[in-house]
Amino acid sequence: MMRKFFLCLFFSVFSYVSFSQTAKKVSTSLSRPKLVVGIVVDQMRWDYLYRYYSRYGNGGFKRLLNDGFSCENTMIIHLPSYTAVGHSCIFTGSVPSINGITGNDWVEQLSGKQMYCTDDSTVQSVGNESEDGKMSPRNLLVSTVTDELRIATNYQSKVVGVSLKDRAAILPAGHTANAAFWFDDASGHFITSTYYMQQLPSWVNNFNNANHVAQLIKNGWNTLYPIATYTQSDPDDVPYEGKFKGETSPTFPHDIPKIYEKSKGVLRQTPFGNTLTLDFAKAAVENYNLGNGAATDFLTINCASTDYVGHFFGPNSIEIEDTYLRLDKDLEKFFQFLDAKVGKGQYTVFLTADHGAAHAIGYMQKHNLPADFFTAKNVIDTLNKILENKFGVQKLVHSGTNFQINFDMKKVYGDHLDFDAIKKTTVEYLQQQPEVQYAVDMAKIGEAAIPEPIKEMIINGYNFKRSGAVEVVLNPGWFESYAKNGTTHGSWNPYDTHIPLVFMGWGIQHGKTNAVVHMTDIAPTVSALLHIQMPNGCIGKPIEQVLKAEK
Ligand SMILES: [Zn+2]
Repeated sequence: MMRKFFLCLFFSVFSYVSFSQTAKKVSTSLSRPKLVVGIVVDQMRWDYLYRYYSRYGNGGFKRLLNDGFSCENTMIIHLPSYTAVGHSCIFTGSVPSINGITGNDWVEQLSGKQMYCTDDSTVQSVGNESEDGKMSPRNLLVSTVTDELRIATNYQSKVVGVSLKDRAAILPAGHTANAAFWFDDASGHFITSTYYMQQLPSWVNNFNNANHVAQLIKNGWNTLYPIATYTQSDPDDVPYEGKFKGETSPTFPHDIPKIYEKSKGVLRQTPFGNTLTLDFAKAAVENYNLGNGAATDFLTINCASTDYVGHFFGPNSIEIEDTYLRLDKDLEKFFQFLDAKVGKGQYTVFLTADHGAAHAIGYMQKHNLPADFFTAKNVIDTLNKILENKFGVQKLVHSGTNFQINFDMKKVYGDHLDFDAIKKTTVEYLQQQPEVQYAVDMAKIGEAAIPEPIKEMIINGYNFKRSGAVEVVLNPGWFESYAKNGTTHGSWNPYDTHIPLVFMGWGIQHGKTNAVVHMTDIAPTVSALLHIQMPNGCIGKPIEQVLKAEK
């Protein structure tokens, strides 16, 4: 009895103390930024922050680094390191195994049907007549941090996604977005789909009719500064850079207006595509009145031209250096715009990338670094012959996508073939190829002799219904031969998976950490900042150092 009494007393004193302490700490109203802006710079390698540092102005990348908090070793922990996969991971804190976005495209394993990540036959284009608008986030199986903000504020928050790429506008903005807009090359207009709205808002029509593209490209593309000052890059004329249609060498100045007449898509492959995207984003802030409502709003922006320029010219080109110097200026103007519209310190920005990129094979070989091309088609053709000889069925391999072997499951099941034996033969053949470092049957990944970090990335990227049954990992530095000029990405290696991550503004500490954090940590960090639930497939952790202690 006595003991019970003391226990009781103890707890009541304890709870009184803890109650009064909490009462002191909790402020009367919930504190949040007016606006969150998530900027994903497509194909931005982490080293671009420092490689061109001395040439950046004070208001763009340097402002982020000097005022904000930089997570210097942010790593992607899934495969493949592709655009749709990266964007989904950033905004869901989740990986393809859970969120279902296993590539830009994938093969539905049971039907063999090819699927584009944001394809949706149930919706229509809005703003043009083509198929380009039949898009939605329906293939994304989990919620995004943008969804969670909408849920947390009972849909008072506004969420808008902007990119030249459909997938990079749609996936970040999530299922409950107010709008997502992407770019249609043929019309030179930003468009959307009936998933979001039945017709374009009048401000989008006005923007589209204002002929921004013609203005941006009218002087062609020459370097921002004298070309001799681009000392961080290769000479302009090297054989492993791409040439625009009609060009005899891959060199400045690029006559963009002339090329644009025949090939409208060229706009994407210039820095002006980023300028256009950020101009459109400003119009979205103004017209949706983002950052000036009762609840926190969220704007997602993907600057895609860095990716198109990178693919075409490679990371060591003067073109990519010039693209980053121009993006730096565009970001400076964009931050100044937000300072004026929303208020300095009233909004939170984070800037990251969906993936990095390898150095061009030609560049690597020139410097005696190990790298070469892998031609998947040849390997698959030979593999099909080997399998046919052994199992008596033609073309058992349907295709190779996302570094995976897709088998024709209708044939495997229809002919009652021994699938384990087919995979075993496949793995044995692939492992003998000089370009291949590892090949593994995903049903046996647990026992495979693959270093743990790579194994984890393979598992994180593997979704039973949307991924091929055998995974292939190439040697470091090697990539598929479709990118003869320029470069590509998709592998586990740090050049593809070490990304910038810098936060700035409301609620953000100044500083940096060299500790390893993951792409999956971005969404829960933003969730913690906003006091909202983390997305429903999230496996990451908040990066605590980023966030200011609450008063
Ligand atoms: Zn990308």
